[in-house]
Amino acid sequence: MKKFFMAVICLLSLVLIFAACADNQAPAPAATNEVVSEAPVADENLGDAPAEETHADYNGTEPPEPETLEGEPAEQVYTWDGHVYQIFSDNAFPPFHMLNLDTGEFYGFDVDLIEAIAADQGFQIERHHVGFSAAMGHLEAGTADGMIAGMSITEERRERFDFSDGYFVAGQILVVPAGSPIQGFADLTGETVAVKIGTVGAIYGETMAEEHGFDLIFFEDSPMMYSAIIMGSVAAAIEDRPVIEFAIYQGNLALETRGDTLNPRYYGFAVRRGEFPELIGMFNQGLANLRASGYYYEILARYGLGN
Ligand code: GLN
Repeated sequence: MKKFFMAVICLLSLVLIFAACADNQAPAPAATNEVVSEAPVADENLGDAPAEETHADYNGTEPPEPETLEGEPAEQVYTWDGHVYQIFSDNAFPPFHMLNLDTGEFYGFDVDLIEAIAADQGFQIERHHVGFSAAMGHLEAGTADGMIAGMSITEERRERFDFSDGYFVAGQILVVPAGSPIQGFADLTGETVAVKIGTVGAIYGETMAEEHGFDLIFFEDSPMMYSAIIMGSVAAAIEDRPVIEFAIYQGNLALETRGDTLNPRYYGFAVRRGEFPELIGMFNQGLANLRASGYYYEILARYGLGN
């Protein structure tokens, strides 16, 4: 029975991984990242929320304020030294990382962004889509030079990694089966909730589990987590909001979100602390250039993340 259940879970998760990937040109869903009405919950593990919480900021639709004031010395210009950077990523985090079954290629917002920045700055990368916690493991171990994976910038992570400027803002949200009577964490007492290993959603889940008396089950990837809710083996999950909204829309999943966005943070590109400062420098220069040229907004729109 257990074997059968696992087989079904695996099958379902495969379907889910690919559901979001079947049609690269699918119409974009409505803006997934809309208004965040609640002030972020203060949590020292999660670092500070972005100062501004406007709609425009969340969707990255407005260029950031220039940081250098007139009269200040010119900022340092970073250039490529010829090292081919090994960039590690998530493998199923729509619409930031998805696999196109026809081509066998990964695509998505993060993929297009890092490729466009590398082209703009004239450096070379090799991408490795291994999953979120695996990518983080590679970055810590030194097999990865950089990581882009919808990774939220937090104070706790800043102790181990250096981050680029934020390139997108997202928080997490509670996910339940369609029609579920569960309205929030307070309704989850005695239940089991799915979280993804190594994520800020998992950290937040631990706090909520203690407060409301529910169990957590840890999954390696997002599609496995969605399968677990659909199969009824968990009552809810915690996932990044734009990701679950895109997955529900693209995969027509029988899932719904509950409550407000939790812990909004910027996503950033990361390197090991103190290493490859020129890579962070070039990422920031490239990001600023792509914002100025408008290409950044084109990529947002391509994945239904802009207005
Ligand atoms: N944004 C979340 C985090 O940084 C989840 C990232 C992911 O699952 N790829 O923890």
